[in-house]
Amino acid sequence: MHIHEYQAKGLFRQFNINTPSAILVNSTHEAKQACADLGGNIWVVKAQVHAGGRGKGGGVILCRSVAAVEEACNKLFGSHLITPQTDAKGLPINQLLIEGGQNIERELYLGLLVDRQSQKITILASTEGGMDIEQVASETPDKIIKFGVDPLGELTTNDCMSIAKKLNLQDTLAEQFVTTLMGLYEIFTTKDVSLIEINPLITTAENSLLALDGKIDFDDNALYRHEDILELRDISQEDEKENEASEYQLNYISLDGTIGCMVNGAGLAMATMDLIEHHGGSPANFLDVGGGTTAERVAKAFELIQTEKNVAGILVNIFGGIVRCDLIAQGILQAIEKVGLNLPIVVRLEGTNAAEGLKLLDESDVQIYTESDLTQAAIKIVELSK
Ligand code: ADP
Ligand code: MG
Repeated sequence: MHIHEYQAKGLFRQFNINTPSAILVNSTHEAKQACADLGGNIWVVKAQVHAGGRGKGGGVILCRSVAAVEEACNKLFGSHLITPQTDAKGLPINQLLIEGGQNIERELYLGLLVDRQSQKITILASTEGGMDIEQVASETPDKIIKFGVDPLGELTTNDCMSIAKKLNLQDTLAEQFVTTLMGLYEIFTTKDVSLIEINPLITTAENSLLALDGKIDFDDNALYRHEDILELRDISQEDEKENEASEYQLNYISLDGTIGCMVNGAGLAMATMDLIEHHGGSPANFLDVGGGTTAERVAKAFELIQTEKNVAGILVNIFGGIVRCDLIAQGILQAIEKVGLNLPIVVRLEGTNAAEGLKLLDESDVQIYTESDLTQAAIKIVELSK
């Protein structure tokens, strides 16, 4: 689960990490009041959406007057923000953070994540904050400081101090860095976080170290034990289809292509998408209907795929291991009867009772192309959806 910048900063403050003073607003009127309450004469208006790269997308606006703040608010409220990290539709802006403009001296990067390979919590730090950290990592990997912490061990003040030194932070800034990193580590371990990031972590002309941005991703599987975190969920930022699908235990992700896919098993779904691409098509979605598929879930999957905006054809690819292909075929026919079918469809069935399943489909009144070979099925659906 993702949360907003202002929510991440709220957690930061609870764990003694300094942030600039800022006020969350729901209207332009509230924003004007916020400027008065914050004081000063430079404010930054920041769109609260579940995506980074907001600066690049025009969602972080520096303002040197209250009139400029008003103008920025009127522009952002109710619009969709498109950033390098969103899809073409962008995310709705319902709330803005009005933040005091800071005298930035340096922009650093500090993040923690789970490194599966080393089985450690990995601290990443860099003097090159403020920009795309993936780009820094790929172009100048020597600019990334890495430090692994055994999750059964502990992070010590000395560890934090040595990282502070590598970032060229001295005296009071180094001390503030230790508090910041200790706080991040505490949030990471007590709240079941999968990624926590401050980009940029700034030093100011006043010798303060501040978290200017905040990103936290939580492990969905552990949310049941963090009611306080669950309350931070903002459904307006999530994909409607993906939420609907998860209610039916379907693993669904919308994509930009034209061929809807219904597959059992995540690995087979990935392979199916690769084959479609290989033969000149592009998938409209990722969908893993899971192992014990029921007719109801197959019907829901059909509905989701058919309402995907660009979809021009459907490829069903089922490998019957535990599940019987004749039952799947029945499910498909029931689903079509229930939700209709207005697109070309190719069904590939293989495994337990595949022959019986294909026979059922071939004998039905519905126009279904059946295949037992996956490559042929992929070629066929690419051709039909052109
Ligand atoms: P994003 O990472 O989504 O683009 P950030 O919060 O990191 O959003 O803001 C982008 C950039 O805008 C920062 O790197 C910083 O240079 C500038 N910025 C953000 N907030 C402030 C602020 N309060 N004062 C001055 N500059 C800011
Ligand atoms: Mg940022």
